[in-house]
Amino acid sequence: MAKLCIALDLDLKRAEELAHALRGYPLIMKVSPSLLLEGGRAIIERLKTLGFDVFLDLKLHDIPNTVRRAVRSAEEAGADYLTVHTLGGKEMLVSAREGSDKVRLIGVTILTSHSEDYLRFLRTEFGSIGEMAISLAKLAKEAGLEGIVCSAREAGELKEKTGLLTVVPGIRVSKDREDQRRVATPELAVREGADILVVGREIINSEDPVKKAEEILRRIENSAP
Ligand code: C5P
Repeated sequence: MAKLCIALDLDLKRAEELAHALRGYPLIMKVSPSLLLEGGRAIIERLKTLGFDVFLDLKLHDIPNTVRRAVRSAEEAGADYLTVHTLGGKEMLVSAREGSDKVRLIGVTILTSHSEDYLRFLRTEFGSIGEMAISLAKLAKEAGLEGIVCSAREAGELKEKTGLLTVVPGIRVSKDREDQRRVATPELAVREGADILVVGREIINSEDPVKKAEEILRRIENSAP
């Protein structure tokens, strides 16, 4: 069954309070660079103690040696998942893999903040962002990564072409937002083949985050094939 990952895009105190309120639920907690800088390794340990898997969203992109060392440190710190930029290239991705065979490495392709202008900026021969994203996902697979970040609409095709775990942000609870590009309800994401649904603001900004997380977990469960 698909898993729910909550993006703890909060300051340390609020992140700890929310994690405490959610203890016991089968969740992955996503730690951003800012939360890691504020909470240090202790926030990872705390989340693990509360029973969660930890998704370290550092989106690494550096020279191969530096990335290998960072991946090793992530393993030592207790991370279960870690993001790396596939645009860093094959050598960097292979080095990342060498850093740990335990941490599940998740490749980022093209950030959703980019438009087709980015292809011109990169001077690539790819005709569209989608085409480039598929090529980068295949590279991630070749380098031995476990997963890829993608939109719900890309998940089925990427899974079929690469067999990678699909990590899908842009989940919105209400249906009327579904027509927006790269945004999907939990049901649609599961139907399209999402393995991990990443939800931030819909939960962390809600009046009752525990109730909202429960609702999304239930909706994932009810959509399971
Ligand atoms: O929009 P929302 O608050 O639900 O975003 C949840 C998380 O998804 C954020 O932490 C953001 O960094 C991440 N994200 C991502 N890739 C995207 C869009 C959002 O990793 N393309």
